[in-house]
Amino acid sequence: MPRAAPRAVSPAPADPGATQVSALPGVGPALATVLERLGLTHLQNLWFHLPLRYEDKTRLTPIRDLRAGDTAQVQGRIEAVEKGFRYRPQLRVAISDESRQTLLLRFFHFNNAQASQLAVGARLRCFGEVRQGSNSLEMVHPQYQRVADNAAAEVEERLTPIYSTTEGLGQKRLAALIERALTLLPADDVLELIPAQLRKVHKLSSLRDALLYVHRPPPEADLAGLALGAHSAQQRLVFEELLTQHLSLKRLRAQLRRHAAPVLHGDGKLRTRFLAQLPFTPTGAQQRVAAEVARDMAQPQPMLRLVQGDVGSGKTLVAALAALIAAEAGFQTALMAPTELLAEQHFRNFHKWMTPLGIEVVWLAGKLKGRARTAALAGIASTAQIAIGTHALMQEGVTFANLGLVVIDEQHRFGVHQRLALRDKGRDADTVPHQLVLTATPIPRTLAMTAYADLDVSAIDELPPGRTPVTTVAIANRRRAEVVERVRVACAGGRQAYWVCTLIEESEQLQAQAAEVTFVELTAALPQLRIGLVHGRLKPAEKQAVMDAFHAGQLALIVATTVIEVGVDVPNASLMIIENAERLGLAQLHQLRGRVGRGSAESSCVFLYQAPLSDMARQRLDVLRETSDGFRIAEKDLELRGPGEVLGTRQTGQLALRIADLARDAHLLPAVQRAGSAMLREHPQLVERLIARWVGHAERYAGA
Ligand code: ADP
Ligand code: MG
Repeated sequence: MPRAAPRAVSPAPADPGATQVSALPGVGPALATVLERLGLTHLQNLWFHLPLRYEDKTRLTPIRDLRAGDTAQVQGRIEAVEKGFRYRPQLRVAISDESRQTLLLRFFHFNNAQASQLAVGARLRCFGEVRQGSNSLEMVHPQYQRVADNAAAEVEERLTPIYSTTEGLGQKRLAALIERALTLLPADDVLELIPAQLRKVHKLSSLRDALLYVHRPPPEADLAGLALGAHSAQQRLVFEELLTQHLSLKRLRAQLRRHAAPVLHGDGKLRTRFLAQLPFTPTGAQQRVAAEVARDMAQPQPMLRLVQGDVGSGKTLVAALAALIAAEAGFQTALMAPTELLAEQHFRNFHKWMTPLGIEVVWLAGKLKGRARTAALAGIASTAQIAIGTHALMQEGVTFANLGLVVIDEQHRFGVHQRLALRDKGRDADTVPHQLVLTATPIPRTLAMTAYADLDVSAIDELPPGRTPVTTVAIANRRRAEVVERVRVACAGGRQAYWVCTLIEESEQLQAQAAEVTFVELTAALPQLRIGLVHGRLKPAEKQAVMDAFHAGQLALIVATTVIEVGVDVPNASLMIIENAERLGLAQLHQLRGRVGRGSAESSCVFLYQAPLSDMARQRLDVLRETSDGFRIAEKDLELRGPGEVLGTRQTGQLALRIADLARDAHLLPAVQRAGSAMLREHPQLVERLIARWVGHAERYAGA
């Protein structure tokens, strides 16, 4: 997709922030290049390059008062130096101060010049984290400097800000540069880009004061409080950063929406026949979301809609209705799933549903070869109305006759790039297909607004009737035998069960091995049961055969890796054991657990864990025991682990927030949204300038 060229910001001449950094004394071409790597091209980028954290060098701590875990500054005289080679070269330096206690400094990387500087008798000032060594407290690789014997014990007057930097630019040099830029910081009436009226509504304090405070916090500032980001100066900047992020994503989305899409406005005939043959009625939530989708598809701009629905909420039905709208309007639908297992399951469902309506559904996956593949490709290029498959649908050589709708199941497994690639498939001349994204990973509202701001969001917030809640328990692995017995009893009673093996290593091979070991163990322990094994190393046909046998009730128990996480639907399965549950993310556990509780039988889920459980792990498993509400689980996951873990670092990396923290600052988002709308409506030219200031050239990557 063509990338929007970064807009050149043409500032008013009176805008000192738009001065190039090279205009600062001491910034030559070489330094300017290094600064550019950090996105620091203009004076204002330096003002808004906020500290990552602070160091407190405003006092000297007597060695006697140090405690392990502290970060502190000490000053003392070198008592002894020892060069050793235990395991690897190291330099051990003992210093002591007036408090007559000794602190050990350890260096693993040092050159001769350093070694000769660290001589017995020299006075040293060090800053670092204190750790408990075997005989005394120690600092590993502290910052240090020699101080003259007669020097007064002068300390910094302010907390020292630490900035993110890059190779070739030291902390001190960057800090000095920012300090120089700050002396050129203008008064608020010139600096502010949020109009006075909005500042008043949202009670925003002085931007100038806020910047000066975070770059130069006074010595009495509370370090712990600063680390929490709760200071009013920080919150002032957080608001502005979130506002800017929001505006920048909204603008990106507006660019996407400038493309045209086919107006898909069916007559409803196929949908009516389809619903008549269904053995159930759609839930209210399914109907509401389907209507939202239909409204979008009837527009001449591409739909970009995310449908969130808990596992088992019936997202497939919404996708089927959307595909029927496209078919009614004479357009094709591509439905893409992240795994072959899931794609095949969709294919079977759609085939069953659509064939009676005279709709041609084709299947395309990477494993499809030879004549079958040629036939599928020919269908996609001509008459087939629905194509279902894996990412193979996006590959070279797949040409659609007239693609009108793309449905992507389990969004979080596809990257933004893959989404865009499929969107490009449908491009003839100037139109792009509509896009519907389905996910069972409930994305907390806070994240949906930011990371997914290019998508509209619909929620299927109601489960079909007749689902039974799943009872969840956590049991330590040493009580494994009891759990095996529980499986035996359940299966003897005609129920079916999953035993899920997980490993922290992502390697499919190791996962498969773990599952094989468990399979052998369970086969020996439960000789009366028919047990199947599914893992990612099996051939798709073998996997399918096992799943089919399980579906048909020929297998009582399936030992599986997390390949069964997404989409597998066997209503009679009512017991699930998950090994090493403490290692998995909450969302993933919730998804796995969603495989049971789909029928009328009382269902349960057992989390087997390796004792002892950390506090955090205990809290996380408790969340799952207490609720089955996917949204609440996702919010909790966000709270406990942060957005990086929940979304995957790649997505949050795009956000690259400097001072805001989505989990901590979520309460600001409604106000941010309101302010954003007002800015777009009334001050579009200021929006551009805000983005240039905060996001700078980084926005180009997000737009890629
Ligand atoms: P998910 O949202 O996890 O993808 P599915 O679409 O696979 O859920 O639906 C889960 C199961 O619920 C399927 O067996 C489906 O046929 C069934 N189902 C979907 N909608 C309803 C409904 N309104 N009433 C009863 N069962 C439904
Ligand atoms: Mg599904």
